[in-house]
Amino acid sequence: MPPFFTPNPGATPTGPRLGTLHTSHGEIQTPVFMPVGTAATVKAMTVDEMEALGAEIILGNTYHLMLRPGEKTIQKLGGLHKFMAWERPILTDSGGYQVFSLAQRRKLKADGVEFQSHIDGTSYFLTPERAIEIQEALGSDIMMVLDECTPYPVSESEARKSMELTLDWAKRSMTAVLRSRGSFVGDHPSQLFGIIQGSIYQNLRKECVERLLDLNDTKNVNEKRTTSAIGGLAIGGLSVGEPKEELYAMAAHTAPLIPAQFPRYAMGIGLPEDLVELVGYGIDMFDCVVPTRNARNGQLFTTFGEIQIRHSRYAEDPRPIDENCACPTCKKYSRAYLRHLYMAKEILSSRLNTMHNLFYYLSLMSQIREAIRKDQYEEFRRDFYRNRISADDATRE
Ligand SMILES: [Zn+2]
Repeated sequence: MPPFFTPNPGATPTGPRLGTLHTSHGEIQTPVFMPVGTAATVKAMTVDEMEALGAEIILGNTYHLMLRPGEKTIQKLGGLHKFMAWERPILTDSGGYQVFSLAQRRKLKADGVEFQSHIDGTSYFLTPERAIEIQEALGSDIMMVLDECTPYPVSESEARKSMELTLDWAKRSMTAVLRSRGSFVGDHPSQLFGIIQGSIYQNLRKECVERLLDLNDTKNVNEKRTTSAIGGLAIGGLSVGEPKEELYAMAAHTAPLIPAQFPRYAMGIGLPEDLVELVGYGIDMFDCVVPTRNARNGQLFTTFGEIQIRHSRYAEDPRPIDENCACPTCKKYSRAYLRHLYMAKEILSSRLNTMHNLFYYLSLMSQIREAIRKDQYEEFRRDFYRNRISADDATRE
C-alpha cells in the first residue's frame, strides 16, 4: 500500500516543509488550508466554485451531520462525497468540539459524552467508537479521534485529567479503526488522526505525543500490522482564548515532537499570520471558519491586512477589495458595490465576500508552498508582514 503521507525528502524536523497526502479521493499538497463545510456545504459556495478556487480538501462536521440529516441518510445516499457532490477529499472531525460548545445539557462520562441536540433536544450518546462509526458511515478520508478539547485557562491538574481521558479515548478509537480496516479493500483506507492535548503545559504536550505514539506502536505490534493505526497527529486545544504568544509557543514546542512521517495538523487555526507562523514550525494542515464566517460578517482579508466592508469610507470607493487579488470578486466588483450589497443584506454579499476570502487563504497557501520550494520562506514571511505595515491608512481599516 502506498504511504498516506510523503514529506519532501529535504524537509528538516523543525522548519517549514512540503509534502503530499494520498487519499482515495485524490492527492493534497501540504501545507494546506482546509475550508470548513460544516453541514455538508461550505456556506454560500457551490462545489464547482470550491474546485475552481483550488480547494483540495474540505472539512465536514460530524456533530452537525449526525443530527441533521443523520449519517444513516447520508450513507444510504452513497456517502458524504456523493451526497454533496464533492469528489475531492474530506476530513471529518469527531463531533466532540461541537458537543462541548453547542449541545445542551451535556454530561461527560468515562465512556463518552451524553448530550441533547441544540436543534430539537433529542438525546444522544457519543463514544469514541460511535464517533468512528459515524465518520465511516460518512465515508470520510481523514477521521479524527473523539477528544476533550481542554478550555483555557485550566490548572495543570485539570489539563492532565482531560489529557488522560483523551488518551483513553484515542486508544479505543485506534481499536475501532483497526477492526474495520480488517475488511478494507482498496489502496487508501480512511486515516485516523490522534489529537494532542495538554493546554499550555509543555510537559503535558510532550507526554501526550509520546503516549499517543506508544499506543500506536503497541497497537501495530499486537495486531501484527504493517500499517499504522494513526495516519497523522493533530494539535488540539489551541486558539481557545489563550494569548497569541502562548499559541505560537505551544505550536513551536509540539510540532517538532511529532515524527516526520506523520502530517501535523493545527486544529481550528487560524488567521493569515497564524498560518504563516505555524508553517514555519513545520505544521502541514490547517482549518478554520474565519475566512467563511468573517466574509459573511463583512470582514475581508487582503495582502495589506483586514478591512470591514461596511465602513463608510468605502461607500464611493471604485477600487476592488485588493488590487493584488485575482479572484472572481476582485476582477469584477468595486468596494462601493460590495459595501452596498452588505448594507442591503443581499444574499450576493455573502457569496462574493466568501469567494474572495477563500481565494485569499488558498492563494496564501500556494504562495507559502512556492516559497518553501524555492527555499525562501524567511523572505516570504518578511514580505508578508512588510506588506501589511506599508499599507497607507486610507486603504486599511
Ligand atoms: Zn479578491
